Amino acid sequence: MYSTMQWLRHAWLPVLPLSVLIAQHFQWFDFSALPMPELPLALLGSAAALGVFFKASRAGVAALLVVAAYLIIDTLQWTRSVAETELLLALLGFNLAALSWTRDRSPLSGFGILLVGIPVAQVVALFSLRECCARLLTGELLTLADNPVTALIPREYSAADLLSIGAVLLALPAWVRRRDQTGAALLTCVLLLSAGAAFGALSEALPLFALVIGGLLLLLAVRTAHELAFRDELTGIPSRRAYSRYLLTLGRHFSIAVVDIDHFKKLNDRHGHQVGDQALRMVAAQIARYGGGPAFRYGGEEFVVVLPGRDRERAQRSLERMREKIAGYPMRLRSAGRSRRNDTKARSRRGNGGGKVIKTTVSVGVATSGEKARSPDDVMRAADRALYRAKRGGRNRVCAV
Ligand code: GH3
Ligand code: MG
Ligand code: MG
Repeated sequence: MYSTMQWLRHAWLPVLPLSVLIAQHFQWFDFSALPMPELPLALLGSAAALGVFFKASRAGVAALLVVAAYLIIDTLQWTRSVAETELLLALLGFNLAALSWTRDRSPLSGFGILLVGIPVAQVVALFSLRECCARLLTGELLTLADNPVTALIPREYSAADLLSIGAVLLALPAWVRRRDQTGAALLTCVLLLSAGAAFGALSEALPLFALVIGGLLLLLAVRTAHELAFRDELTGIPSRRAYSRYLLTLGRHFSIAVVDIDHFKKLNDRHGHQVGDQALRMVAAQIARYGGGPAFRYGGEEFVVVLPGRDRERAQRSLERMREKIAGYPMRLRSAGRSRRNDTKARSRRGNGGGKVIKTTVSVGVATSGEKARSPDDVMRAADRALYRAKRGGRNRVCAV
């Protein structure tokens, strides 16, 4: 499930549009005084372009679809009534929700063209059917019977209402399943469109909604670039580049711990690189959780933890605890060749401990800033020497300078 850090890392997504809408509602800032409709188009266009650069088809195609809906409704004014506008926007929400189930690929691929082509076909169908099927498209489709519950919720539903509800129900599990930022962003867009439609505010405040969604998708692209630069892809923890930046913010009192997995080459040789990667992910997660300070993947099977403050005993205690957690962690291997099969045989094997369990250990060298070592480089060199002693001393231990 979502960790607290993930919640915090994604929390800006719903907060950003909500703050804009609240500021507009209470007239703290008049967003409609901004250059409309140029600004929403510029934001959405930039988000689409960045989606192409980063091969992020979900965000890129989402921006393109919002641009298309905005042009059709606002610039070209192809929709003839509020009901038609609402249907088109509900269709947009539904397509954004469907998009959140796809994998990111280049928008400039056959797959990307398909992602744009399907909604285009829907719009063509919508406009060709609007004469003959007006009742179906814009009239009430479903009426709920009278009962205590329907007194609280609306009784009549058009195709647009049903599509809006369907969009939320579709985007929600996609986000829960992947727990990624793009899924959270698409869900936020879907919720915005559905809530806007439910409160009847969407069709008249369309430029504002397009502005908010454009800003959201553009920031998402910038965040994606940031993550690519500063987060280690395999383990998901901050990378060495993030470490060098973090050092610039350090005060005078800190400890640096260098953590190295023991006999990792043997583990790779014996069980293969996939198991090696699994071990790296497990160790990284334990270090980030129990290390006692920000943790980074320094390279290969080496990590660094920066522990704030001048209390070296406390730093050692938390590293000792982290070492124990890693040494005690049972890593269940998937048996080779039937890794993802889920038949009865494979299940019973797993249930009987058929997937082998292995454990791995780390050695840790730690040094604290002081008279002899003032700069982070000096402290890290000292921690490296301590790590060497830990390895020489038999591994699976913490050594301090
Ligand atoms: P020691 O206990 O002395 O640290 O021995 P070691 O085997 O852990 O150390 P060594 O430096 O000899 O080996 C490190 C190995 O880490 C070699 C390399 O194949 C492996 N490695 C580095 N990065 C990755 C990675 O991203 N994935 C996998 N699976 N292996 C990696
Ligand atoms: Mg090493
Ligand atoms: Mg090692």
